Amino acid sequence: MKIYNTLSKKKEEFVPLEPGKVKMYVCGPTVYNLIHIGNARPMIVFDTVRRYMEHKGYQVNYVSNFTDVDDKIIKKANEEGVESAVISKRYIAECKKDMAAMNVKPATVHPKATEEIEGMLDMIGMLIEKKHAYVAEDGTVYFRTRSFKEYGKLSHKNLDDLRGGNRSLLVSGEEQKEDSLDFVLWKPKKEGEPYWESPWCNGRPGWHIECSVMSKRYLGDEIDIHAGGEDLVFPHHENEIAQSEAANGKQFAKYWMHNAFLNIDNRKMSKSLGNFFTVRDISEKYDLQVLRFFMLSAHYRSPLNFSAELMEAAKSGYERIVTSVDNLKYLLGAASVEEISVGEERLLETAKSFADKFDEAMEDDFNTADALSSIFELVKFVNTNAGETSSKAFLRELKDELVMLSDICGLIVDKEEEMLDSDIEQLIEERQAARKAKNFARADEIRDELMEKGIILEDTREGVKWKRA
Ligand code: AMP
Ligand code: ZN
Repeated sequence: MKIYNTLSKKKEEFVPLEPGKVKMYVCGPTVYNLIHIGNARPMIVFDTVRRYMEHKGYQVNYVSNFTDVDDKIIKKANEEGVESAVISKRYIAECKKDMAAMNVKPATVHPKATEEIEGMLDMIGMLIEKKHAYVAEDGTVYFRTRSFKEYGKLSHKNLDDLRGGNRSLLVSGEEQKEDSLDFVLWKPKKEGEPYWESPWCNGRPGWHIECSVMSKRYLGDEIDIHAGGEDLVFPHHENEIAQSEAANGKQFAKYWMHNAFLNIDNRKMSKSLGNFFTVRDISEKYDLQVLRFFMLSAHYRSPLNFSAELMEAAKSGYERIVTSVDNLKYLLGAASVEEISVGEERLLETAKSFADKFDEAMEDDFNTADALSSIFELVKFVNTNAGETSSKAFLRELKDELVMLSDICGLIVDKEEEMLDSDIEQLIEERQAARKAKNFARADEIRDELMEKGIILEDTREGVKWKRA
C-alpha cells in the first residue's frame, strides 16, 4: 500500500509501526457552527482510508478531536448570551448527526480539548523544562521555535524566509516574544472567557498544543498517520511536530496525509469567505450518500470544485450502483437453482478481477476515482450477465462483491441490509408496546416488516431475541 507523505513529498510504501495495527489521528473541526461540505471532505476521505485499511485486516485506532475552546466559539457564545460550552456541545451533537448521515464511522475516540487540559499543562511544563518554551511577563507561554532544529521539515519552509515574512506582520503581543517565529502554547484569559488555572497564568491553551496532547494520550508518542486538510500543513501541523518531537524525543507521525480543498468557483470553500454550503443544506436536496460519492469521485489530493452539475452526475452514478444491486436482489428472488455452472464459475473469475482492480487503485495512495471506475466496470458486467442465469449462488456472489466494494467506500447501496442494530431494537420495543396494548395487528406488521429486511424474531422466556437471516 502506497501513501503520499507530505513529509517526504513522495509516495511511500506503508509500513505500520506495529504489524497489523494502524494508529491514526485526524484533526477535527472547531465547533461553533454546522459543518460545511469543505469540512466534510477530510471526514469522508479519511474515513474511507480507515475502511480500506480495516478491509485489509488492519486494526485501526482512529482518533479525531473536537476543538471546543476557541475565539470563534467564545464570540458566538457572547452573541447568544450563553456559556461557550453550550455552543460547543450543541455543534458537536450536530456534527455527529452529519457524520452519521454521511456514513462516517465514529472515531475510536473523539476527545475534546477542554477535557484534556491536564495533559496540556504537563506537556507545556515539560517543554519549559527542556528550554523549548519560555514564559513571558504576562504569563503567556511561547514555544521557542528556533530551538527545534527541524522546524519547517513538513511544510518544506526555510526558517529565515519565514522570519522575513513574519516581521512585516507584527501584531500586538509580538514584542514580548524572543523571536517572531515563536508561537503560543498557553495564553492569559481575557474578561468573560473560559479559563483554567496553570502555573503561568489563568488562561487557555493555544490551538496547536491540543492535538499534540490528544494524540499522545490516545495513541502514544509515535503514530502511523496524521491527517487533515492541506491548510493545516502550516503552521498547525508544523507546530504539532515541533511540540511533540521536542517533548517526547521521538518522531511524531510516520506519514502525513493532506486532502486538497473543496472549492467553489475555484476558491476554497470557507466560513470566512461566506461561500459555503453546510452538510445540512445539501441533505435537503440530496441523499448524503450522493455527497459521499461526489467527494470520492476525485483523488483526495486534487482540488475538487463543487457544482450542481457534478452533484447531479454523482447522483446518477450512485443510483446506477443501487439499481444494479436492486436488480440482483430481484433476480435472486426469482432464481430457481442453487448450484453454479462451470461457465458461471469462469464468469465469476472475471467479476473478481474488478475487485483486484479496485484494490490496485486503493493501494496507489487511495485513488478512489479509479476505485469507483472499477465498481462501474462490475456494474456493467452485472447488467450484462446477471439476467442470463438461474443460479442463486452466482447472483449472490455478484451482489456480495458489489456491496463489499461499495462498503469500503462507505457507500450504502443495499439499504435493507444496512438496517442498524439500533433501528431494529427500536422496532422490537415498539412491537412489545403494541402487544402490551393488545394492538396485535401493529405487532404483526412490525414483525413482517423486520422479516422482509431479513431480521428474524424469536420470542423466548428471557424476552425477544433477534438475528439476521
Ligand atoms: P476547521 O474547523 O476550519 O479547523 O476545519 C476542519 C477540517 O476541515 C480541517 O482538516 C480543514 O483542513 C478542513 N477543511 C476546511 N475547509 C476545507 C475545504 N474547503 N476543503 C477541504 N478541507 C477543508
Ligand atoms: Zn490538529
